[in-house]
Amino acid sequence: MNIEAYNKLVQECKQHHVTLVAVSKTKPVEDILALYNLGQRDFGENYVQEFVEKQQQLPKDIRWHFIGHLQTNKVKQVVGITELIHGVDSFKLLKEINKQSAKINITTNCLLQIHIAQEETKFGLDEEEANALMLEFENLKMKNVNIAGLMGMASFTNDENQIRKEFQYLKSLQAKLSTANRQLSTLSMGMTADYTIAIEEGSTMIRVGSLIFGERKAS
Ligand SMILES: *Cc1c(COP(=O)(O)O)cnc(C)c1O
Repeated sequence: MNIEAYNKLVQECKQHHVTLVAVSKTKPVEDILALYNLGQRDFGENYVQEFVEKQQQLPKDIRWHFIGHLQTNKVKQVVGITELIHGVDSFKLLKEINKQSAKINITTNCLLQIHIAQEETKFGLDEEEANALMLEFENLKMKNVNIAGLMGMASFTNDENQIRKEFQYLKSLQAKLSTANRQLSTLSMGMTADYTIAIEEGSTMIRVGSLIFGERKAS
């Protein structure tokens, strides 16, 4: 773990009013606890099984962010123990989150994942799909989900201008999809490689793993 880098990141986030989600996927509970003891409360995980196991072992005031691709049949396991689900990319998934949340009488905060990268492989909605989803969401008056904002992952490239353009696009979509009574205030963008650009372009939440915890082994 790189405590020095972590402390520096915390300062940067404070300065810009950005929430730091420490992405702890593949890392042991000991590492999470060490950071917890330094005051970190927001952690991000992306595999349901691993997330649930860690959540059971760790302090209950941790705010867990589910940042991975969530399958509909696994929604039940994460609802109720998740502060924010970052990767909602279909109406079917949103409906299931609403249903499972209603069962336990809670409201689950979600972000719509938008496809902003050039790569085909990354999940997410395009502008038209996001628009359609928002309309459907409002028509059905879902009470147990709150769409708090948008999430995106930029292209895996060294081209800073390309990354910047993608973050600017996400920011512009946030404005476009917001209305008077629908505030999409959270913008989850920026990881180890590109969080500086993301903050410059208006990110309100960065998801940083390897800078804090060290490189992950390829899985
Ligand atoms: C793994 C992951 C991160 C963190 O990546 P780093 O490059 O280690 O900072 C952020 N967001 C998502 C969705 C991830 O899966």
